[in-house]
Amino acid sequence: MARIDFFDGSSAIAHEAKISVHLDHIVIHAGAQTHSIMLNDIRTTLSTPNGRRFFQLPHDMMLEFHDNQDAEAILDRLKPEHLKKERWFDQNYRTKRFLTGVLVTFVGLIALLYFYALPATSAWIASKVPEDVFDKVSKAVLNDMIADKTLEPSKLPEARQAQLRAQFDQLKKPDTSVPFKLHFYSAPDIGPNAFALPSGDVVLLDELVNITQSDAQTMGVLSHELGHVALHHSARGIVQSSIVSFALAAWMGDYGSTVVNLAAAKVANQKYSRDFEREADDYAIKMLKLNQISPAVLADVFVVMEQSAPDESQTDKADQADKPVNKTASTLKDLFQSHPPTPERIEALRKAAQE
Ligand SMILES: [Zn+2]
Repeated sequence: MARIDFFDGSSAIAHEAKISVHLDHIVIHAGAQTHSIMLNDIRTTLSTPNGRRFFQLPHDMMLEFHDNQDAEAILDRLKPEHLKKERWFDQNYRTKRFLTGVLVTFVGLIALLYFYALPATSAWIASKVPEDVFDKVSKAVLNDMIADKTLEPSKLPEARQAQLRAQFDQLKKPDTSVPFKLHFYSAPDIGPNAFALPSGDVVLLDELVNITQSDAQTMGVLSHELGHVALHHSARGIVQSSIVSFALAAWMGDYGSTVVNLAAAKVANQKYSRDFEREADDYAIKMLKLNQISPAVLADVFVVMEQSAPDESQTDKADQADKPVNKTASTLKDLFQSHPPTPERIEALRKAAQE
């Protein structure tokens, strides 16, 4: 057996040591000293400069092995789990496989945070935001869209607007506490569409009303939008895209105009996830069935929307260049920004209609 040095913690002098292993402890004999150390009190490590194995012991005592094989032979006989882990780490941490493992775990954790923790945290923070904050955000969004002429006054006659409003008001809702305020506008740059703001303000565009084949289809669209409001999709999306600002504001209890303006800007770029659209469709299915309206009406809306959509490849570029592009028009769309893809949604709605 090669030399084993013992340091007693009180001086830097190395004493040559002999070690005997017992069931739950080791005994160190070094010159005149004898120490009995419990196995649970031993930590082991490899020294970085010389690669020698060390045992770290209580009271700053230490063993240094001149030949690591002596240490490994002793460690082979020691049962505690932590020693096995420490050895495993020492033997593996420099290997490529270990580093790859660390990297994969790290990337996995980030992905887990992004896909699960972020939406969950956003939903939680969104639930803590006072309602008037989202009212302010929604008002700012509407004002911006009116100011940059994305939204123009509706050309639907007042009586027609009142009729659609009354029809929707009379429908039974899955949850009567959900805020809902219907606005009629025209937006030639957006085309047939509708969207919901976090306050419960829902914008229905003339262009959509005009292509529907029945008022039941319009009710289908509004039920879908009510779903987005009820499930706080817009609010959650806004918080998620500015989570740091919202977390800070929630913590300080102060939602200044900066947070409101930032959030309003985010709404304009908001795109709902595949899950949110499916959830809003499911909400619409539930609500339509509650009123004995077939969910197929919403599928029919998707079909007429697709038929009315201009074929982008056919559009004359010169014609487009003449038109000023509004900043919100190209982004703020709901129904037609269709995730999951329209055929999949149509199929799900038609299937629900048969159930
Ligand atoms: Zn939607």
